[in-house]
Amino acid sequence: MNPLSNRRRPSYIRTLFLLLSLSTAVATAQDGAVGGEQLFSNARLIIGDGQLIERGSLLLRGDVILAVGPEAEALASEDAQRHDLGGQTVMPALVNTHAHLGWEAYGDWGSQHFTDANLIDHLYRHAYYGVGTIISTGSDKEDVARRVKLEQQRGNIGGARYHLSPGMGSPGGGPNPRFTDDPDYWGVHPVADPEQAVRTVQELAAQGYGIAKIWVDSRDERRGAQVKLAPEIYRAVLGTALNYDMRIIAHATTLTDHKALVGVGARRFIHMPYDTAVDQEYLDMVRRNNVYIVPTLGMITKREPYYVPAFRDPFFYDQVSPDVLESLNSGYQPPGEQSAAAATRSAMLAENLRMLKEHIILGTDAGAVGDFFGYADHVELALFVRMGMTPMEAIVASTSRAATAFGLNEVGTLAAGKAADFVVLDANPLDDIANTRQIDEVYIRGQRVDREDLRNNWTQD
Ligand SMILES: [Zn+2]
Repeated sequence: MNPLSNRRRPSYIRTLFLLLSLSTAVATAQDGAVGGEQLFSNARLIIGDGQLIERGSLLLRGDVILAVGPEAEALASEDAQRHDLGGQTVMPALVNTHAHLGWEAYGDWGSQHFTDANLIDHLYRHAYYGVGTIISTGSDKEDVARRVKLEQQRGNIGGARYHLSPGMGSPGGGPNPRFTDDPDYWGVHPVADPEQAVRTVQELAAQGYGIAKIWVDSRDERRGAQVKLAPEIYRAVLGTALNYDMRIIAHATTLTDHKALVGVGARRFIHMPYDTAVDQEYLDMVRRNNVYIVPTLGMITKREPYYVPAFRDPFFYDQVSPDVLESLNSGYQPPGEQSAAAATRSAMLAENLRMLKEHIILGTDAGAVGDFFGYADHVELALFVRMGMTPMEAIVASTSRAATAFGLNEVGTLAAGKAADFVVLDANPLDDIANTRQIDEVYIRGQRVDREDLRNNWTQD
């Protein structure tokens, strides 16, 4: 259960104020150098694909990167706006492939919060923490979401780039009971048989969706509520999606389901096998088929060794009021009081992650399980490293590989022709992954995010 449920609803006035100030922030940013050239020099450049340039420059024009590296300086026009970064580190903005926008209201949670204003707020929360692209997976109210996405494409809304992935599932099934038990929940696109699966994928493709989600999970079958999606149905989804260049991401948490899904064409997973250690057969399948896996370590509970207590972390305080913060520590078991079973499970998860590390991509599940937008991404990065990845591997998983997994080719690396989405850091995350938190500035679409203004809005009572 979310510790924040039913605590406090943001008032109409607070929401209105936030919206007004957000539009001011956008307008201010757009008064700047839109269309003009900007040169960021004297920086350590983490490219996002594993390359590092110890000292170089980044040249932008408008929202696009023109050049990266030592030559960017020479290519800059005379009237380029110049920023000497004095040795700071620049890395691509993060790409988060698994979150649930719209339901969290920071004091309350539910479908009633899925409004334009709340969705926009969540895009800005991600941007604040250096997340430039967000895929919201299967729980969005599509009419509201499409409207907000369109406004963002028009340039009227900033924040992280918003990608929608409609959800398909067994009738009455789909996401976890927190969502499905909500009396006003709009449900998933039901796929009861292979024919309906084919039709649904065709309809979603016709509406322009390039990403969609399926749930293959029996968690609620035990409660009599949800029948696990049958293999002939998900095979129909995956096969049809191929014809429309639609990328399907499958929610599955067991090794058996992962193998069955890869066997019929699944290439992207939300969740890694949590039930058992991965075996050689699975690893071979994953490598042969270039499968992408979102481990979603954010689901680690407050009783396990890898849990990161957000309520003790000043980096988290930026986006919550003191009363929300206070409510968060219930149920926390500090390391000394944890069970042996929890330790065994954590060790197994860490070993699975290490075995799969060349296939791992960033996703937080934030907005569904009581984790918080943007902040959760830095927790995930830290867990990647604690579980055995190098900081560079963790950054690649969270930038270029996450983008490639979904064909989001404009983001994820610092390279000529790519989107000008990047983070300026005061310390080098290759020395310590916690340095991704040392954010000086965030730029999305070549525009500086007004973090101070956002922080002031979120932390007031
Ligand atoms: Zn999720």
